[in-house]
Amino acid sequence: MLLAAVLWVGLAFRVHRDARRRVDGGFLVALATLLGLAVPFVGPLVYLLFRPPETLEESRVRRVELLALRDRIGRPEPVCPVCRTEIELDFLVCPVCTSRLKQACARCDAALEPLWQICPYCAAPVEALPSFDLDAALTAEAAAGGERLRRRRQQLSD
Ligand SMILES: [Zn+2]
Ligand SMILES: [Zn+2]
Repeated sequence: MLLAAVLWVGLAFRVHRDARRRVDGGFLVALATLLGLAVPFVGPLVYLLFRPPETLEESRVRRVELLALRDRIGRPEPVCPVCRTEIELDFLVCPVCTSRLKQACARCDAALEPLWQICPYCAAPVEALPSFDLDAALTAEAAAGGERLRRRRQQLSD
C-alpha cells in the first residue's frame, strides 16, 4: 500500500516535471499535475497520451534552425561594399557614393562579375580593366620624390 502511494506521488511528480518542460503556462502545468495526482496511475497515462510531442527546448531549437535555414535560402540583398546602400545586381556604379561596382561588357554593356573571363550575354571576352596599381604608383612617386630631393641637395651643395 505504501509502495503504491509512493509510486502514485512519484508519478504525479514526474508528470509535473515533464509538464513544466513541455507546457508554457503555469495553469496548464498545474492542471497536468492535478490530473497526475487526482487519478492514481491512470492520470499519468492520460497525460502521456495528451502531452505535447516536443519539449519547449526542442521547439525553440527547431524554430532557430528554421530561421537559419530561411536565412540561407533567402539570398541577402546585394549592397554597395563602400556605403552599404542596397544595389541591383546589374548596377555598374553605386548611385549613392559613385563607387565603381562592376565592369560593363565592351560589346553589350552588361554588368560583369569581377571573376568573369567572358561575357555570358554576348560571349565577348572580358578585357581586364587597366588596373591601377596603387602600390606601384606610390613606390614610383616616392622614388621620383627621393630623386628630386637628392638632386636639389646636390644643387645646394654645389
Ligand atoms: Zn555606395
Ligand atoms: Zn557582353
